[in-house]
Amino acid sequence: MRRSIRIAAVLMSVILLLPCVVSTKTVVRADADAGNVRLFVERLYRETLGREADEQGEAEWVDLLVRGERTGANVAFGFIFSDECRELTADNAAFVQVLYRAMLGRQADEAGLSSWVSFLEAGHKRSMAFAGFVNSPEFSSICASYGIVRGEYRYIDPSRPMIALTFDDGPSGRTAEIVACLEANRAAATFFVTGLNAQYYPNTLARIASSGSEIGNHTYDHRGLTRLSDDDIRGELSSVDDMVMAATGSIAPVVRPPYGSHDERTDTIIARPIMLWNVDTLDWRTRNAQSTINHVLSNARDGDIILMHDIYSPTVDAALYLIPELQRRGFQLVTVSELAEYRGGAQAGNTYYSFRP
Ligand code: ZN
Repeated sequence: MRRSIRIAAVLMSVILLLPCVVSTKTVVRADADAGNVRLFVERLYRETLGREADEQGEAEWVDLLVRGERTGANVAFGFIFSDECRELTADNAAFVQVLYRAMLGRQADEAGLSSWVSFLEAGHKRSMAFAGFVNSPEFSSICASYGIVRGEYRYIDPSRPMIALTFDDGPSGRTAEIVACLEANRAAATFFVTGLNAQYYPNTLARIASSGSEIGNHTYDHRGLTRLSDDDIRGELSSVDDMVMAATGSIAPVVRPPYGSHDERTDTIIARPIMLWNVDTLDWRTRNAQSTINHVLSNARDGDIILMHDIYSPTVDAALYLIPELQRRGFQLVTVSELAEYRGGAQAGNTYYSFRP
């Protein structure tokens, strides 16, 4: 009886995740102790990859968790959806067993195993099952017992409309307000940062990444790339990548050249997807929250990439209104990489303006 209640609770949190806007509490930094956190990471190695942790990898994960730059959800996702784990879990039953052992620290009971396997056999994505485990009370109390923040996993429904809000030229002193609003609405966006501003906001970079939003590279000082030498272009990109790497542990996966100005030569050097936009709010010109809001609400359609600038205070005000309002209107707010992933993918060196279905 107790078991079936537990399964019901897990399934219920999957269902709760699906269509509605759920506001969540702000994540509170837990009291992480490295020795304790190590046990959490070691279990992930053992149960998802079937091997002992390598020393360096383990130390890096522990450090990110202790500093609060990754949540339990982030780290578990990284392990469970790694290529190495994928190869070990070709069949659904093996995958469900890994979820139980790695995330809940116990064997799957028979009823739980069969109900999750039939959930997957019915065509639900593995990430949806993962979301059920992440958002379960059991995983929450396990994370608490290790002193780490559980975090959230946003499940994206590929069949529903989605748009990517993008914020250029920051971070600014108010970017964290947008991040908090996204987090509270279980939403995400992409922040195309310049090095010139990013150097002053390492904590904001870390917050963007740990909240599930994305950092894009918008070059160091916003010069038109087509007029620069190859070496200068590399320098413009790598200085930002270094800052992002230092703050988040990985480089920016996408690039937006300043002014959207690029050519074949710059694209080859960029060697990542070039994410432009198809809805331009012109917020830099109007500097008026209401006109930015109106522009987005009357133009945004499924698959669009929307351009805004988080260095302008009226744009931040507009974003704080738009995030819940767009969701109320049925849009899922995703990063540009997520949008690409669900709409045909993106290739390095190719340019994208939107991902309409
Ligand atoms: Zn710009």
